[in-house]
Amino acid sequence: MKNRRQKHERSSSFTGNSHRKSTNKKEAQIKIEKKEIDSVEDEIKRLNKAIEVSKQQIQALYQHTLKNIGQEEAKIFEAHMMILDDPEYFGQVQQKIKTEKINAEYALKQVTDAFIEIFQNMDNEYMKERALDIKDVSDRIIRQLLGIKTVDLSKLDEEVIIIAEDLTPSDTAQMDKQKVIGFITETGGRTSHSAIMARTLEIPAIVGVEGIIANVKNGDIIIFDGDEGSVIINPDKETLKQYKDKKEKYEQFQNELKQLKGKPSITKDGCKVEIVGNIGTPNDIEGLIKNDAEGVGLYRTEFIYMDRDTLPTEEEQFEAYKKVLQAMNPKPVVIRTLDIGGDKEVSYLNIDKEMNPFLGYRAIRLCLDKVEIFKVQLRALLRASIYGNLKIMFPMISSLEELLEAKKILQEVKRDLDSEGVEYASNIEVGMMIEVPSAAIISDILAKEVDFFSIGTNDLIQYTTAVDRMNQKIRHLYNPFNPAVIRLIKMVIDNGHKQGIWVGMCGEMAGDPKLIPILIGMGLDEFSMSPISILRARRIIRNIERKEMEKIANQIIDLPTAEEVERFIDENIAID
Ligand code: PEP
Ligand code: MG
Repeated sequence: MKNRRQKHERSSSFTGNSHRKSTNKKEAQIKIEKKEIDSVEDEIKRLNKAIEVSKQQIQALYQHTLKNIGQEEAKIFEAHMMILDDPEYFGQVQQKIKTEKINAEYALKQVTDAFIEIFQNMDNEYMKERALDIKDVSDRIIRQLLGIKTVDLSKLDEEVIIIAEDLTPSDTAQMDKQKVIGFITETGGRTSHSAIMARTLEIPAIVGVEGIIANVKNGDIIIFDGDEGSVIINPDKETLKQYKDKKEKYEQFQNELKQLKGKPSITKDGCKVEIVGNIGTPNDIEGLIKNDAEGVGLYRTEFIYMDRDTLPTEEEQFEAYKKVLQAMNPKPVVIRTLDIGGDKEVSYLNIDKEMNPFLGYRAIRLCLDKVEIFKVQLRALLRASIYGNLKIMFPMISSLEELLEAKKILQEVKRDLDSEGVEYASNIEVGMMIEVPSAAIISDILAKEVDFFSIGTNDLIQYTTAVDRMNQKIRHLYNPFNPAVIRLIKMVIDNGHKQGIWVGMCGEMAGDPKLIPILIGMGLDEFSMSPISILRARRIIRNIERKEMEKIANQIIDLPTAEEVERFIDENIAID
């Protein structure tokens, strides 16, 4: 296969480009034949032995992951242990062996396939992902039963790129980071466990490249570019050289960025801003520290509530918040209260299916309705506040009434803690996200009631332009350069400043190299982004003049189309 180039959606969390020999995992696929057995008893014994060995392996993987990667990632193997202890699952396998007198591996495969189908047909992304866990566990037992040795990703003797249908969490956890320099999968989404693990391990990866397995064989040379979102199989010499140069430049650029660690985020004419990071779990702190974040601008706490069967306790939450606050102290940490609903489902809350979940029962609306859940989180936050510099932020506020109600509940929780003699910090700032147009429009009124605003452009763009942020078909309409969005942002910053509060941004737009100068020109005080974007943003800010950007921002406000806004930026601002 010469020079085959495939375009696909890149997984935005991974960047960089790589070329190396490939290892095609398709070869490890197992064919299972149906066989009649003589002794049911012996067959069940064989099955139980394979389950036992699998348990030991998973236990070892759990310990390895806990020690080398993190608690959050190790949880995957807790889930695997639960599957291995599931009497319903293995009861059905045993039943099949008994009644049909068939071999254990075939019975297991049939029961597993039935379970997977049920999970995959569920209308819930999380449950769909669980199908992969069941497959992972069942494959492990089947390999035991058949005595198959698999490619050991922890013991490779040369650098490889892994090509696979999808990678199981066990595969990803064992990967030798020195040897596996990247992976490409046919399936899997940005929220699949293997993608999450790869992100934590900082292994470049691209997911969702259909047809890649059929086009690659072991030993092929592969270039993949996370920036461009392209894969090239067996490139010619010239292409290889071109990408080697690109890789060198990329590495050089990354090294240059490292020099900016410890330096302030300040424009040439002395305007200092804060560049902080977005996180989802306490483990993400490592990436923030590595990239010299000046604090946390958005801790999405909903992940504590997801991937489980019951609500997290106050204690569990307290520990998570404390960990982040302590690790960042004295830097600021903005923790957002629960923002579930929309694309973030929590199955155990049994929320009715809605026609328009993004316009529905979500975030602060849910918290003001289920006050007990909200209060538990606020208690945990307040108790943790003594360990660092906490700022509390409410999501999805769309009216003054909602904001006042949320603040009232916070006061009630403070009073409860006072009466119990429980300590909390006295100077906690309280802010809100501006992600609904109605909030942006009355931001002059809302600004009187909070200590800060953080603009959530991911939602603000979708609500302002009526473009579903998850809908690929209308992706071209989801545009941060849209003049309506630009005008709303300017209005919010001005209204915040008139009331003397600081204004930040924690949507993806805050880390967009083309828009950072404009936001500086509009006077944004704080930029919150994924850790990997921080040093690049600092470099851009240190290379521009606030005064000049202000002039450009003022001109942009009058432009009529997104295209003209983008072109004006391209023509007037040089970014690296
Ligand atoms: C936003 O809407 O911009 C935001 C940061 O929140 P989330 O992406 O979690 O909805
Ligand atoms: Mg949002």
